Amino acid sequence: MIQSILSTDLINFDTLPAASQSKPSLQTYLDKRVTKSQPGTKRTRSQRARERLQTKEHLVGLARELHEGELADKLDRCHSRLSVLTCGRHIARIIPNFTCEFRLCPDCGRRRSRKLQTKYLPPMKAFMLHNKVTPVHLVLTQTHRKETRKQSAKRIKDSFGKLQRRSFWKQYFKGGTWSLEFTKDKNGLHHTHLHIIGFRRKFFDIELLRDEWLSVTGDSHVLHLKPILDIASGLQEIVKYVSKPLDIRRFGAADLKEFLGLKNMRMFGTFGEFRDFCRSFDLSDDETAVSDLESLARDLVEGCACPQCNEPLFDLRLSKSELPKFYERIESLAPRSP
Ligand SMILES: [Zn+2]
Ligand SMILES: [Zn+2]
Repeated sequence: MIQSILSTDLINFDTLPAASQSKPSLQTYLDKRVTKSQPGTKRTRSQRARERLQTKEHLVGLARELHEGELADKLDRCHSRLSVLTCGRHIARIIPNFTCEFRLCPDCGRRRSRKLQTKYLPPMKAFMLHNKVTPVHLVLTQTHRKETRKQSAKRIKDSFGKLQRRSFWKQYFKGGTWSLEFTKDKNGLHHTHLHIIGFRRKFFDIELLRDEWLSVTGDSHVLHLKPILDIASGLQEIVKYVSKPLDIRRFGAADLKEFLGLKNMRMFGTFGEFRDFCRSFDLSDDETAVSDLESLARDLVEGCACPQCNEPLFDLRLSKSELPKFYERIESLAPRSP
């Protein structure tokens, strides 16, 4: 719901005639965009679980409409029964009966973005340390044209490729990661954004970057840049678009059909020197740390102490519709006194 309300803020005023009625300032426009994607948006876990459920039901409906029976069945089965290891107040682990791995599945998307965070956080930290660079979150946008999702994505990625070859860019950025976000306005035009974590060598005047972006795109100068204070939450914010590249609840059957045609499109990637760094980065140390944590959770079984409160864990079998209710119950409980 929140998403669809905010997406209407994206009406394509930059394609409206210049003299049209009071349009919001570019700053407002982008601030809303970026604010929307801030980590820790106020929704509770139960609300998010309920939204995932609705998104999935919506997707299943669309798949059936398109006679994609196999996809609909897979989505329907994915996370439909859950084994929840809990102390009654905390959830130590959730094991689903089945994962569909469909790119738009909100449950599988969460797992995918967690994996990306685990993979890229260690090299990011090391890269920043070795190169004395600071991370920024850069959002690049483009004007909206009548084109397919694929064309829109290609256009912005091509422009970004050109930007990276400019001497301005090389002077100030030392690589980073990108991810794609798609939205659509009420006129059916695609809004494609690139969310970039850029490792900045030094400060520069944002107006200069705006000019560079205008020069490579020919008609777009809308971008937003903000410093990332904590790389872990900065990365978390970016990988959200990998799990949720578009606003699925405003999706129609035609949108799903178009998306199914994009099978091999990449939604996330690394670029510049950071890309090379990742290739040669020795994961050994950090990998051990991560897998220790993961295996710790994997090793938990019924009867073990809850990692958060030491109470014994038990195994609760829930259906997908019971999970939001269970979160709600947990949220209504006062924290256990130490
Ligand atoms: Zn799934
Ligand atoms: Zn507990």
